[in-house]
Formats: sequence, structure tokens, C-alpha cells
Amino acid sequence: MDVLTPAQRQLNMSRIRGRNTKPELLVRSALHAMGFRFRIHVRTLPGSPDLVLRKYNVAIFVNGCFWHGHGCHLSKLPATRTEFWRTKISDTCVRDSRAIQQLHLQGWRVIVLWECSIRAVTPEGLIRTWARLRTAICASKSRLVQIPMLKR
Ligand SMILES: [Zn+2]
Repeated sequence: MDVLTPAQRQLNMSRIRGRNTKPELLVRSALHAMGFRFRIHVRTLPGSPDLVLRKYNVAIFVNGCFWHGHGCHLSKLPATRTEFWRTKISDTCVRDSRAIQQLHLQGWRVIVLWECSIRAVTPEGLIRTWARLRTAICASKSRLVQIPMLKR
């Protein structure tokens, strides 16, 4: 029996930081719509990638811009406890690049899909993001693709 309204559930999920966030759900439904098969939250791989497409040898991270220090307009540091956040986020960045390195060593290609390419974009922008994602999965030979391109 379902005791939560969809709105309540949405709110609950948005509070579970890092997992089942809205951008991640959007990516999953877009991949489904494009006909891709994937596993989610694969803890047996370095960094527990959010999505893994074994057929394409691709691991995907859907990164929140603030938590993972993207350096874009969504990742401004708070005015209070700035040093605390700077340290916390830079630790996350170190873990992220280690995970990517290890995935590369195991032969995986990695796609980092940043929140700012999904959230707060126009419908056309979102279509561009999915097109880039599809290209990155199917047609790219790069070991690391960032969407959007790294701004820092
Ligand atoms: Zn960003």
C-alpha cells in the first residue's frame, strides 16, 4: 500500500543526496527512451557508477555540480563555512578522479554528465544533452567524456 503522494515521494527523493536525484532519474528515462539497457549504482565498480552500460563498456556518473565542484554557476560556494565546503568538495574531486583512473585501468570508458547540462536548461538544451550522451556512448572512442565540456 502506497502511503506517499507523488509530490511527497519526489520531496523525499530529493532529500536523499546523491542517489535517485532528479537529474539521475531524468537520465535514466532518457536512456530508456533511446533504447539503452543499463544497470544502476554498480557498487562492484570503482566509485559506484550511477549507470553502467556493459554492452558499450561505459560507466556514467551523474554529478551534482555543487558536490563535485564543477566550477559552473550551480557550484558557487556558500558565504559561510566556505573553507569547510572547499575542503569537502576538493576531497570529493580527488575521489572522483581516482575512481575514473581505476575504471580506465579496468578498461571502462567513463562519461561524466553534469547536473547543469540537465537541470535549468531549455527543452532544446536538454535535447542537445541527450544527443551528446548518445554520441558519447555509441560513437566516441574517448576514455573520458564530460558533458558539458569542462569549464574550469
Ligand atoms: Zn555544472
